[in-house]
Amino acid sequence: MRRITLIPGDGVGPEIVEACRRIIEAAGASVEWDVQEAGAGVMEKYGTPLPAHVLDSIRANKVALKGPITTPVGSGFRSINVALRQELDLYVNLRPARSLEGVRAPYKDIDLVVVRENTEDLYAGIERMVDEDTAESVKLITRRASERVCRFAFEYSRREGRRKVTAVHKANILKFSDGLFLETARAVARDYPDIEFEDRIVDNMAMQLVQKPHIYDVLVLPNLYGDIISDLCAGLVGGLGVTPSANIGEGIQVFEPVHGSAPKYTGMNKVNPTAQILAGVLMLHHIGEEKAASRIYEAVAAVIREGKTVTYDLGGEAGTSQMADAIIDRL
Ligand code: NAD
Repeated sequence: MRRITLIPGDGVGPEIVEACRRIIEAAGASVEWDVQEAGAGVMEKYGTPLPAHVLDSIRANKVALKGPITTPVGSGFRSINVALRQELDLYVNLRPARSLEGVRAPYKDIDLVVVRENTEDLYAGIERMVDEDTAESVKLITRRASERVCRFAFEYSRREGRRKVTAVHKANILKFSDGLFLETARAVARDYPDIEFEDRIVDNMAMQLVQKPHIYDVLVLPNLYGDIISDLCAGLVGGLGVTPSANIGEGIQVFEPVHGSAPKYTGMNKVNPTAQILAGVLMLHHIGEEKAASRIYEAVAAVIREGKTVTYDLGGEAGTSQMADAIIDRL
């Protein structure tokens, strides 16, 4: 039995995580859950939304499956999702974008993988008001962080049988920061002669992904471009409801849907569990439960293709748990 930290999260998190848990168990995966609560709900009890024992559980189990967690605007704590990534040094955000038949989307056969640097760039939080009318944010790029994310992209490509890595940047203008990222990507690429390598300037990349996404395969990007381009790729396959992600560090991986906690739908048994379930599929793939992973993927794809028992965003009338039941029936 593989022990997995399971974080239900808040908002719609507990509903979609429950759907995902039931499906993983029905598929016969050999996992044991170590359920850990985090978020606004535990503030009163532990004085923090991210108690140390939650982090300890992830460090011990090395793998976590989490639901979305709300970040209150303006008051209270900083994002738990960002804190998790920083505390555990989860330096890669991996987002596959793959078409599912039956989901309304501009293209039918997309299969892209976005590898986003997760720790630095304009997200390092180095900002100040220079004077009352001038603000400054520092774009921090290091060789170390660039090298490890690029190396991850190539190792992933080799392992998963992908053919090409495209590094995305704006090195024509940002000669130092993006220049360093590009130089590092080129150096890493020399260690992987079996994988094709190319680079694109980010604005051109955005246009090409809309016009001819099929010529791309694995993209590796600094944090900000990765954030934006991965949402563009999610849009190519039908949006947030169907897009999973993995946050990856040295020996630790945390899997979650790309979307947030959709608070207005809390407890309504309404939202689409697919992104959470596909995060579970990524997790099963990672721990070597290949059979359960592909069975679940095929069952999800079949239920969506059929279109009878799907949630409102996919044009159906089923609730979260009914869609999960239909997937379990398919298994
Ligand atoms: P959101 O992704 O929660 O929801 C935006 C809208 O998208 C929803 O109102 C809903 O209409 C739709 N939607 C989202 N998920 C759906 C699903 N599974 N099925 C059907 N429709 C779905 O974004 P938001 O409203 O900007 O954020 C809400 C909260 O979530 C915020 O506190 C934010 O900080 C947090 N958040 C958490 C994570 C995370 O846990 N990793 C990620 C993003 C946002």
